[in-house]
Amino acid sequence: MKVLAPQTLSELQEQVRQLHAEATPWLPAGLGSRLDWGPPVCAGSVVLSGRALGGVRSHTPDDFTVTVAAGTPLAELQQVLAAQRQWLSVDRPWGRPDTSIGGLIARGLSGGYRQRYMGLRDQLLGIQLLRSDGVLARAGGRVVKNVAGYDLMRLLSGSWGALALITEVTLRTQPIPPLRRCLVVQAELSTLQELSRWLLKASLSPERIDLWSGSLAAAAGRANQPLLLLSLASIDAATLDEQITCIAERAPDLEVLDDAVAAHLLDCELGSSQAAAGAPRGDWLLRLAVPPAQACTLLAADVLQGVPLYLAAGSGIGDGWASGTTLARHRVEALRRHCQALGGYLSVLRQPSPAPGSAPVAAWLDAPARPLIEAVKRQFDPKQQLARGRLPGVAQPGG
Ligand SMILES: Cc1cc2nc3c(=O)[nH]c(=O)nc-3n(C[C@H](O)[C@H](O)[C@H](O)COP(=O)(O)OP(=O)(O)OC[C@H]3O[C@@H](n4cnc5c(N)ncnc54)[C@H](O)[C@@H]3O)c2cc1C
Repeated sequence: MKVLAPQTLSELQEQVRQLHAEATPWLPAGLGSRLDWGPPVCAGSVVLSGRALGGVRSHTPDDFTVTVAAGTPLAELQQVLAAQRQWLSVDRPWGRPDTSIGGLIARGLSGGYRQRYMGLRDQLLGIQLLRSDGVLARAGGRVVKNVAGYDLMRLLSGSWGALALITEVTLRTQPIPPLRRCLVVQAELSTLQELSRWLLKASLSPERIDLWSGSLAAAAGRANQPLLLLSLASIDAATLDEQITCIAERAPDLEVLDDAVAAHLLDCELGSSQAAAGAPRGDWLLRLAVPPAQACTLLAADVLQGVPLYLAAGSGIGDGWASGTTLARHRVEALRRHCQALGGYLSVLRQPSPAPGSAPVAAWLDAPARPLIEAVKRQFDPKQQLARGRLPGVAQPGG
């Protein structure tokens, strides 16, 4: 694939205009860390990377806002914010840590922190984008209270680069919580279900309430039994202790983790401890979602035997992974049907190479809103140049 990495915004704009005139297919990219995930990139596509267009433009700590170029690595942004004791309240991405802000928004995936801070799309205040014809456009603004224009931010979040190239964003920031405690309960799923339902209604507002399959617990070196991972944050130790006492009254087996154990479990959940999580490259990586009330039903499914998986209790969304030998293709298809029967969906982010002569499993199926999604795509990209064949909610023939 030909990769273009323009050094300035005007150079980028010129290249997009040129590609538009030629009707050449192209793919917006950030650091290029996960371009191969999801449906295949169409042959002949040019990759247009924003990696050279990085940098924090302005941080206003008193307003809790930051404006950043889309090619900026997440780690660089977090470092700038940390100097003012703030952070972008988002999990690091699953697997490898490198990611640009634009790539994170374009994929629209959030982890367990969504429980307290909501998804990254909810923290987007403003966006600048480059349309397929090379015209720069803006939506939203740089302040928390703004009502300007159409909510393009949500449309672009999770668009997989299929609508426009994000060039700059303004995001809400949060103070770094001075104190954090991670807690674990390992028990039967029915016990965890009852506890997580209570936690979701209680006024404790944990940062994360994540349900793990027994296989994920075992991969992290614990007993092969389902587990509930909690993270609490506060400004003072007495409040944290009160919260822990309150939870322990309902969960006598509650374990308060020391920092090293907590970091290890988070590494396992976020796939960065690959040996522990058992997720070598080239194997299955699945995003699963069900209504939160069905999360434990999904975790109990026979078809999930041996699959490390976590689901955020508040959203019912999570990731599962397994090697091609542990998880046969027909089981992934059965799992997808099971998620659908529970009112959810399954997306295949990564999969083993299919056997000769057989098609890959479709990354996603048609969404009920497919006609609307396609109409929006036509408006943004009439020549169908951007991320051809990778429009979320539109299944590709033959996977
Ligand atoms: C908890 C969590 C779990 C995650 N799990 C996964 C996962 O399992 N698989 C996965 O793929 N991602 C996952 N993500 C998202 C992951 O962070 C992104 O895929 C990653 O950030 C891509 O970064 P990148 O800069 O290398 O993007 P790239 O690999 O360059 O691009 C990734 C995608 O974003 C699009 N894109 C990139 N930059 C732009 C831009 N400026 N404008 C428009 N579109 C753009 C590309 O077209 C491509 O579709 C997860 C994120 C979180 C927070």
